[in-house]
Amino acid sequence: MTVQTFTLNNGVEMPALGLGVFQTPHDETKAAVTAALELGYRHIDTAAAYGNEREVGEAIRCSEVPRDEVFIETKIWISDYGYDETLHGFDKSAAKLGVEQIDLLILHQALPSDFERTLAAYRALEKLLAEGKVRAIGVSNFMVEHLTALLDTAFVVPAVNQLEIHPYFQQRAVLDFGDKHGILNQAWSPIGGITFYPGYGEGRKSVLEDAAVTGIAQAHGKSPAQVLLRWGLQHGRSVIPKSTRRERIAENIDVFDFELTVEELTTLDALDTGRRGGPEPEAVTLAAYGRAIPEA
Ligand code: NDP
Repeated sequence: MTVQTFTLNNGVEMPALGLGVFQTPHDETKAAVTAALELGYRHIDTAAAYGNEREVGEAIRCSEVPRDEVFIETKIWISDYGYDETLHGFDKSAAKLGVEQIDLLILHQALPSDFERTLAAYRALEKLLAEGKVRAIGVSNFMVEHLTALLDTAFVVPAVNQLEIHPYFQQRAVLDFGDKHGILNQAWSPIGGITFYPGYGEGRKSVLEDAAVTGIAQAHGKSPAQVLLRWGLQHGRSVIPKSTRRERIAENIDVFDFELTVEELTTLDALDTGRRGGPEPEAVTLAAYGRAIPEA
């Protein structure tokens, strides 16, 4: 399986599709990552806050795929923002992953109530980049106002902004901002996972069950998940679907042999509800979400 790649704004190549491991339990992470590597994935998206960097690293070390062929992306959690704290956050993540260099290190969230601390964290990422400890740096869940304020002081334009993007929540303004500034948009919940996470609010409708999605899937002989991944890729976005099941991990990478038509893309574009599944950016504060990340 050959996965298309994107060239980031600093020339680094990144596979367009990777495996996400949010909510993948410790004891299932190694098997999921191992299956993904066997099935052709060369990009894993984890985070300090997911508590499974160690198992991601172990799976990569135990696989037959050389380290330099796997693109490792991880995230600094808000409790490690601040210049020295973020440098130490890198040390913790690198030690848990068991690697010297991280391919893409991003800030997990803006911290609007303490944006100075967010900016200091980003300066630490710039230092790690200059020292070659990371190959690319970026952000996640940054809205237009956060990116604008960041670009005012940053020396390095973020390579990636990882955002909640599925047909029910498309965030077009921030996607356009990224396109305009050379920041690659990367979709989290690319198959709409957050529209059906258990316990995330009653009355939600899974985008995988939307008649528009299932109709397009039927027309191509593909699954709804594959249609949503194609939709993201054809819009020029990186996608990082999560699964712990081997058959779905295989299904989710099997998306490079068909194309959605312009009409189909337009149909999916029209499903936007404007309703965010994740936390409102302003609600992300240290008081509410600032749990500590353990030492390595
Ligand atoms: P996804 O859109 O990837 O959906 C994952 C859910 O879909 C799981 O419940 C999975 O269950 C199920 N699933 C996977 N494949 C299929 C399939 N082919 N058919 C039907 N169901 C399927 O949602 P996520 O929210 O997990 O997002 C993906 C990744 O994005 C995360 O793992 C994480 O790496 C990142 N992320 C980042 C965030 C951020 O704030 N930066 C926030 C949230 C996610 P099962 O495992 O049982 O197959």
